[in-house]
Amino acid sequence: MTGKATTPAPMTPVPVPQPESDRYWEGLRRSEIWVRRCEGCGKPYFYPRDICPHCASAKTQWFRASGRGVIHTYAIVHRAPHPGFGDKVPYVVAIVELEEGVRVPTNIVGVEPEPTKIKIGSRVVPVFEKLTDTITLLKFKPA
Ligand SMILES: [Zn+2]
Repeated sequence: MTGKATTPAPMTPVPVPQPESDRYWEGLRRSEIWVRRCEGCGKPYFYPRDICPHCASAKTQWFRASGRGVIHTYAIVHRAPHPGFGDKVPYVVAIVELEEGVRVPTNIVGVEPEPTKIKIGSRVVPVFEKLTDTITLLKFKPA
């Protein structure tokens, strides 16, 4: 082995918004969480899309969620699934259930990525992590 590493660090993958989720991404840029509810069956849902996944109604509306929730489940990632996450392991992937009733795939931050430090059912609050000028990620930390 000689010389210095010359390969640039791999880029972290960036989400590619779809038109029907624009309001969600716009909200995250303002540190707001917007999700959808069906006017047909009354159920909220996530991820944001025009057609209700419960009853297939097209009558849906946006509403702002509080951001308060609990950890529904989680896993600690030790082996990066993409080179762009190589310098981030270990980290916590989770499903957080917002108090409005939707479950959101996310990361838990601000806590040691140790099973003894993270409890299913524990309360979390949102963290808005700016990734690019257009993409802000929704993560959570212990409340
Ligand atoms: Zn519905």
